[in-house]
Amino acid sequence: MLQKPKGTYDIYGDKTLEMLYFRKLAEVLMDKYNAKYFETPIFESSELFHRGVGETTDIVSKETYDFKDRGNRNLTLRPEGTAGIVRSFIENKLYAESLPLKIWYLGPMFRYERPQAGRYREFYQFGVEAFGSNDPIMDAEVIGIVVNLFKILGLKGVSVNINTLGDKESRENYRKALVKYFKPYLKDLCDDCQRRYEKNPLRILDCKIDSDNEIMKKAPKMIDYLNEISKKHFDKVKEYLDVMGIDYKVNSNIVRGLDYYTHTVFEVQADIKGFGAQNTLAAGGRYDHLVEFIGGPSVPGVGFALGLERLFLALQAENIDIKEKICPDVYIFGTDIEQKGNVLSLANDLRMAGFNVDIDYNGKSFKSNFKYADKIGAKYIIIIGEEEVKTRVLTIKNNITKEEYKIELDVVINFLDEKLGEEDED
Ligand code: ATP
Ligand code: MG
Repeated sequence: MLQKPKGTYDIYGDKTLEMLYFRKLAEVLMDKYNAKYFETPIFESSELFHRGVGETTDIVSKETYDFKDRGNRNLTLRPEGTAGIVRSFIENKLYAESLPLKIWYLGPMFRYERPQAGRYREFYQFGVEAFGSNDPIMDAEVIGIVVNLFKILGLKGVSVNINTLGDKESRENYRKALVKYFKPYLKDLCDDCQRRYEKNPLRILDCKIDSDNEIMKKAPKMIDYLNEISKKHFDKVKEYLDVMGIDYKVNSNIVRGLDYYTHTVFEVQADIKGFGAQNTLAAGGRYDHLVEFIGGPSVPGVGFALGLERLFLALQAENIDIKEKICPDVYIFGTDIEQKGNVLSLANDLRMAGFNVDIDYNGKSFKSNFKYADKIGAKYIIIIGEEEVKTRVLTIKNNITKEEYKIELDVVINFLDEKLGEEDED
């Protein structure tokens, strides 16, 4: 039997309900921020990710799905959303329109990782990118989106961790300090860290293997290498978070896996008991040089991405149910095969009048039809027979209370409107 590729999963049943609910919630929330929905290709030229995400990151060095198409082009399944959005922002010259521009996306990402709970090879991210403001107010605004999202969902066990990487100058000073500090300890670090030491020593702090190492804990802190501008930026971010009543912790070990961040970086962790190792729900930061780096003008940006699988696990851990089942308002069947046309025509009219309708396609028996209507959760059942067609009066059954109504065909829509409207008010 053919099976799905390792590390992937199918979305159906309850998973569909979660996914659709989340998408709706994201749409409503993003409208409140005047953020615009974006879709970019699932695959892009490999070069975009190698340049944009950075050669020294795990994502690009070990996790991408790279392939050649039949025209011999080097393509990569997107491992994250930011690079593609930035590419599109530049290619479509959106920088020439009114900035700031807030963008959101929701879709699958692909990384060749070891699959485990909360870690897949195809997974879904919801993300936001805000272009065109280097003001710390935008950093706070973006962090606020994640916090508000969790608030709306009722998720309580989350904590916001922030840090700053400073501007170019501060970062360079810090880099030098790290190089000096780690030099005598190099042989004690993992192979990856030794490689990082050469290419991007900041990444060492992001290491999952060496993170509990004493050497790591005593490493110089970015905070001590910030210049005035960087310090001021970070102070303002904290001030604006305070203004919104957002709790956060400053955590100097957050450096993020991507090469393009400047100033603020942040992660939102699940602190739920027994949640497991994959507890970073969302992560993001400011990337003031990325647009330029990918070939556009100098436009600052700040954003985040949130993993939906981990969010759903967190909701489950706190017993929060977001599955919103949509059931048919009406199920229609005919007493015999001759009525199929009438069934179809009434269903069509009712759908166009705004109702969710399902019908009997297979010519089931009376009993099976009632069973089926129960299974799909139909609220009302309409049966059409010769008698109904002749008298133009329908028998409509409330499938929950089992009450029966005789309703003239011409006023069926009014009747259902009234009945289903009443239910909504409950
Ligand atoms: P991690 O340290 O867990 O590997 P990351 O730093 O690689 O995460 P980002 O690239 O910042 O993660 O992605 C943002 C979010 O996307 C993560 O916080 C997580 O919720 C989600 N995510 C990342 N990789 C995966 C994956 N393989 N499967 C499911 N969700 C993922
Ligand atoms: Mg990762």
